[in-house]
Amino acid sequence: MDYKALADYLFPDVKDTPEDIEARFPERQLPAGANVTRIGPSPTGFVHLGNLYNAIIGERIAHQSQGVFYLRIEDTDNKREVEGAVETVINAMDYFGVHFDEGATAVGDNGKYGPYRQRQRKEIYHVFAKLLTERGLAYPCFMTAEEIEAVREQQTANKENPGIYGKYAKCRDLTLDEIKANIEAGKEWVLRFRGEETGENIAVEDAIRGKLEMPRNNMDFVLLKSDGIPTYHFAHVIDDHFMRSTHVIRGEEWISSLPMHVELFNTLGWKQPVYCHTATLMKIDEESGGKRKLSKRKDPELALAYYQQEGISKDAVWEFLLTLLNSNYEEWRIANPEADYHEFPYTLEKMSVSGALVDLDKMRDISKNVICRMSAEQVRDGWLEWCNEYNKDFAALINKYPERTLGALNIGRGGAKPRRDIETWKQACDFMSFYYDETFRVTDDMPVECDEATVKEFFGKYLASYDHNDDSAVWFDKVKAITEEMGFAVKPKDYKKNPEQFRGSIVHITNMLRIALTGHANAPDIWEVSHVLGEEITRKRLQAFA
Ligand code: GLU
Repeated sequence: MDYKALADYLFPDVKDTPEDIEARFPERQLPAGANVTRIGPSPTGFVHLGNLYNAIIGERIAHQSQGVFYLRIEDTDNKREVEGAVETVINAMDYFGVHFDEGATAVGDNGKYGPYRQRQRKEIYHVFAKLLTERGLAYPCFMTAEEIEAVREQQTANKENPGIYGKYAKCRDLTLDEIKANIEAGKEWVLRFRGEETGENIAVEDAIRGKLEMPRNNMDFVLLKSDGIPTYHFAHVIDDHFMRSTHVIRGEEWISSLPMHVELFNTLGWKQPVYCHTATLMKIDEESGGKRKLSKRKDPELALAYYQQEGISKDAVWEFLLTLLNSNYEEWRIANPEADYHEFPYTLEKMSVSGALVDLDKMRDISKNVICRMSAEQVRDGWLEWCNEYNKDFAALINKYPERTLGALNIGRGGAKPRRDIETWKQACDFMSFYYDETFRVTDDMPVECDEATVKEFFGKYLASYDHNDDSAVWFDKVKAITEEMGFAVKPKDYKKNPEQFRGSIVHITNMLRIALTGHANAPDIWEVSHVLGEEITRKRLQAFA
């Protein structure tokens, strides 16, 4: 067979040589040890937590080494593509604070190694499709879906490996005339790699998993689909070579395709990138109590949009993912409570190989820690930004009462043990609702120790002696005096010891106050809340019970 003639026949439009492409995308001039990484999301409209998980690794190892982190849109599967999905990925990554040095953007490409959308790289792939054809390592295959299915059935029956290889690769040895006749008859074709049965093994040193050993590729896998668009395998090898990626960070579901990628890198004489196959995101199944993969259908938390909607800040999501990514992150955080998480020295070596467990309770707990370390202004800004999108009524309240809002957010902030009242921006709307008359509701009942008459008696006395200018010590002395006067124990332990001697304790008294003022028995400091609310609102709320 004259492979050169076949290549010219199949790829008449290819003008560039492999050398031209090499010259167009020269090695990057970067400091020694700089890593070049990327994410390659498919624009399906669904951006999942795993995309961010892998993005964080790539972003960290690139930026910790003065390297380059870029975005490539893997849109070779047009069946799965959804209108506006590229923007969705870009916006989601931006929202979660993942910044690319290079790659696809909402307004075109940024960088010299593009195009960064695979469908725009067809000409580049075809140069190498032609090269492999010329070398007798790729051939057009006309097998129909039915023929392939029949092969698969036969292989299943014979307990053989499935796939097109060896004797099952029906079109391997067609002559040039047969090929031309098929194409002229309008038959669809794909370009297949010509695999070789060697019985050898390959070994790849995965930066996360260590040595991976598996049988060398023997498959006649597809390089170009019938529309001339490459498969993931072919595009991955070409793109990561010419975009000069040093590390390929991707999900462990790609490990099984590794032999094809190794085969292509070797055949083309290119250096393999360092492979980093990350663990699948798992959760504890509520029903069975066992670990299982997160599912798009069952688990809303797999979608990145979920965290936006719930108002879990990007910092909390990052910190949570960092705890999954590096086993020593939590230790580092305890030792460096004030540090920016970008200062954490992330390493691939400390990655876990077993499934990464997504635990929403833990994420919420981390979110509380993140928010309690922020300044009141930062909390206001983050919360307001979320409300502008998801709770416009609340955004209006924040804007209407700027001082009160900041005052409220300042209660219990700072110091070694800041209050951890706010968990998410969504929950902040519940927690903060009592600061505004528009959303204030009394939801808790007065303590059982305090019947209606007692409640009335207490608030009557309290309001009579209330002076908004009292400092908190004077204020508390007055509360204690009323407590005693009404026959309640000033020290809770006295009441515990001799409950029959008292009507209740100061705990019940202050609970009444909290409930009247905030609607809840569980609330921040009463004196501080009163001063954030101001005298008028404070008196009005207490008066309602007097
Ligand atoms: N498009 C692939 C995916 O979405 C990317 C895998 C890779 O990063 O190489 O899984």
